[in-house]
Amino acid sequence: MQTQAAGKNIDPSEVAKFEALASRWWDQNSEFRPLHQINPLRLNYIDQRSPVAGKKVLDVGCGGGILSEGLAARGAIVTGIDVGEAPLSVAELHKKESGFDIEYRLTTIEELAEQEPENYDIIACMEMLEHVPDPSSIIKACSKALKPGGMIYFSTISRNPKAYLFAIVAAERVLKLLPKGTHDYEKLIKPSELARWARQADLQPKDISGMTYNPLTKRYRLSSDTSVNYLVHAHKPL
Ligand code: SAH
Repeated sequence: MQTQAAGKNIDPSEVAKFEALASRWWDQNSEFRPLHQINPLRLNYIDQRSPVAGKKVLDVGCGGGILSEGLAARGAIVTGIDVGEAPLSVAELHKKESGFDIEYRLTTIEELAEQEPENYDIIACMEMLEHVPDPSSIIKACSKALKPGGMIYFSTISRNPKAYLFAIVAAERVLKLLPKGTHDYEKLIKPSELARWARQADLQPKDISGMTYNPLTKRYRLSSDTSVNYLVHAHKPL
């Protein structure tokens, strides 16, 4: 059964998973190791396709701020939003240590898009769509908050037998990279579904790339294999 916070596109049981672990967000050897490992890859992907320096960038579902800080380090003017209080307080604390000027806000993208339509040059929504009741609503609201001509990036996990084996069985039970129950199979999203929701939100998908984990080298790399972890780049036409 899917619980939903009153009238909002939030699954409290999903948010609770991240609240419980938040104190370890910046520990590179914790449950958040995979996010630290993929961070340079996704930052380069975004920055090469749309240089972020001097741009207004929104990080949707920013958690403890791993991507937000990386974007700020490259000169972006960053706003990070999340609905988890604990991850956001970790992000605020870490920002004080690292000295970045990032604005963190406890809000949903649906609310933010109402308040600030067409306000951001670039939006990133990473590893978050698979944790919400209605991902298409997130994509639609992201599109609304994006300036015409703006660029948007999503990352998530596909839904197929290989993704089940790698992202759930291997990652959660064999290699123990993530806690058991981090990802629910039914909530995973196929690239074709994400691309369809993007088009329905008036976004034009431009690229889909895989992020592939090699358990021997323990490293991720960008690849053409989008069957497990993948990144999507889309554009909002002028
Ligand atoms: N994007 C970050 C964190 C991913 S973890 C990164 O890749 O480094 C998923 C995050 O999504 C958690 O911080 C969780 O609190 C947040 N989240 C879950 N549901 C959300 C919602 N409806 N709106 C905003 N954030 C949400």
